[in-house]
Amino acid sequence: MRRGIAAGNWKMHGSRQFVADYVRALDGQVQSLECAVVLFPPVGYLPLLAESLRHLDLDRIVELGAQNLHTEVQGAFTGEMSGEMLADLGARWVLVGHSERREYAGETNDVVAAKTAAALRAGLKPMVCVGESEADRDAGRAEAVVIGQLESVLARCGGELGAIAYEPVWAIGTGRTATPALAEEMHALIRSALANHSAPAAELPILYGGSVKGGNAGALFAERDIDGGLVGGASLKAEEFMEIARALPG
Ligand code: PEP
Repeated sequence: MRRGIAAGNWKMHGSRQFVADYVRALDGQVQSLECAVVLFPPVGYLPLLAESLRHLDLDRIVELGAQNLHTEVQGAFTGEMSGEMLADLGARWVLVGHSERREYAGETNDVVAAKTAAALRAGLKPMVCVGESEADRDAGRAEAVVIGQLESVLARCGGELGAIAYEPVWAIGTGRTATPALAEEMHALIRSALANHSAPAAELPILYGGSVKGGNAGALFAERDIDGGLVGGASLKAEEFMEIARALPG
């Protein structure tokens, strides 16, 4: 039985005040959820968020993650953070392969696989993001692109991952959500690719990401192979993020 996951990617948003207000807004709501909750703040706010959650006894409910990591443990890599350092700061998860990093930081499938391996080495649960661009979909290669992204990770790391997030690039931050049927088709494809690699296909959560909101979460999460959401913009409003999380069974 796969437990639902509501994951919030704050991207490059937040402040000390935002963290304080957000945690206060979660209190009284997050305790009654059936699903797991993971927050990915900008890395500098990880310790403050961890401490704020601990202060209200919410740290046993809300897990934390980082949005990126370096492949090495330490060294002369100015501006970088290793998985080991992120774990030391309280992260249990890390996003790898987010489309914004693939696009703006030029992360290739090989880099994503190496970062996934680094996350596992550090004891972090990698949430591996895959997804096709609009041009890929228009050219009829959405499936091939997504399976290619997934297979490069599986070939290097095996299937003992934290989660997969299917995020069609054309749906991220655009307000254009994939229909539940389209998302389910891709999730089922991902699940069968996992099974082909003897990965624990049945147990690995596969999250959908791409303009998930309070109003569309229920229809997406009702699909058989959609185990939760990786939520960007809507996770910045604690109330709406909780509405999305409430749409998930345990
Ligand atoms: C994301 O950043 O992973 C994402 C899905 O963003 P949004 O929900 O804003 O589309």
